[in-house]
Amino acid sequence: MNTRRIAVLFAGLVAGATTLAATPTRTAHYDLDLALDPRQGSLQARVEMRDLPCTGSLTFALNRAVRIARVQVDGRMVAPRLVEENARRATRTLSVPCPARTLALEYTGAGPLTEDGRNQISPTLVELSLYGAWYPRLAGKFTYRATVALDETFTLVSNGRSVREGASRGVARHTLTSLQPVGDIALVASPNFVRLSANGEGRIAALTRNSLPAGAQTAAREATAAASRAAALYTTWFGGTDSAGTPVAAHLAFSLRSGPLSYARLPLIVFPESELTEPDDATRGYPYLGWAVGHEMGHFWWSWAEYSPREDWLNEGLAEYAAARFVRETYGDKAYAALLAQYRRAATKAGTEATAIVETPSDSAWTYANRYAKPALLLDALERALGSDRIGRFLKAVHDSALARNALTTDTAQTIARDTLGDEPARLFARCLAVRGWPTECGG
Ligand SMILES: [Zn+2]
Repeated sequence: MNTRRIAVLFAGLVAGATTLAATPTRTAHYDLDLALDPRQGSLQARVEMRDLPCTGSLTFALNRAVRIARVQVDGRMVAPRLVEENARRATRTLSVPCPARTLALEYTGAGPLTEDGRNQISPTLVELSLYGAWYPRLAGKFTYRATVALDETFTLVSNGRSVREGASRGVARHTLTSLQPVGDIALVASPNFVRLSANGEGRIAALTRNSLPAGAQTAAREATAAASRAAALYTTWFGGTDSAGTPVAAHLAFSLRSGPLSYARLPLIVFPESELTEPDDATRGYPYLGWAVGHEMGHFWWSWAEYSPREDWLNEGLAEYAAARFVRETYGDKAYAALLAQYRRAATKAGTEATAIVETPSDSAWTYANRYAKPALLLDALERALGSDRIGRFLKAVHDSALARNALTTDTAQTIARDTLGDEPARLFARCLAVRGWPTECGG
């Protein structure tokens, strides 16, 4: 093991105020008080943040549609400095002096927060996540506690533990608490949601509009069945998601809005409703929703790494490889081959100038090819060379290590590759992570 490299990595992680169980780092914490009025399409928020990683000044992004009433650093009123307006992201970036203790903001906003409706407060849907920057968005992970006042007819789910505390005069109060340090506060709510599940046990449920046609409701039930099956397979392959072996619980929320994006903020997974109502493209060769569910469920096992250029492939690439194996087990070899062909097209399109996997910034044009497609191709190539059992042992060992440390790095994965795959395959593994373009030996 290259201990010096590991030591440098630990130092980097401490500076980033992230979350290693064994390291006494500060994790930022958010306390939010949120009043949502779906009829007016408005929100009213009071947010207090503490334990913020900061040197010099603190910058954060906030949706452009909100009106800031008050900003306080350590209890003192300040006027934030405008750093940047970003029309595409619908955000403005603001800067304040470093808080020693707290940064508090009060603001109001109304209407769709993003143009494609992906983030909105409307009479039929509330969808809020970092994509709408509805709360002051900083880099790094944090914990949160939010109280949400919302029309009592709405069913609400979030990426934390959501408890409905009671209602008065038509408004219900919910408490949302993060389950572990997270990268987002995401919630979806609608008065039209019904809860569907394939087998009635309800640990994995779909939330869909009650007026959907029967075919779409069947598709929603099938998505929950796919999620349950993926969870069962991944448990067999990688072990439990915690040391107690707690069964995975998840909500698949199908949001009625125009934007196409699907995303996972576990235990919440959000899809546009069109995934249920529009016919699947049969020429793709594998069922899109089944594959997407397989990928997002994969993040229950694979989301230990930092969201950094060097490490995020461990989150996306291992979730994607899990999804590919899930597709093979569930939909057959032809579906798996179609998925691999899609990865190869993406790798080819990225071209010979594409940065290495471990050098891919989030806003890179090569993000999909490098963080998703190429790692899956590489693991497939190793599986064909070494057999399923060896790759299985490798991935199980990587997951065991991540679970024990609450963290996963490329260096750790490479060390485990040497131990479980042997020197030569481990060298190939390391070479392919660091190579420009995508050679045949890596699965190209
Ligand atoms: Zn993902």
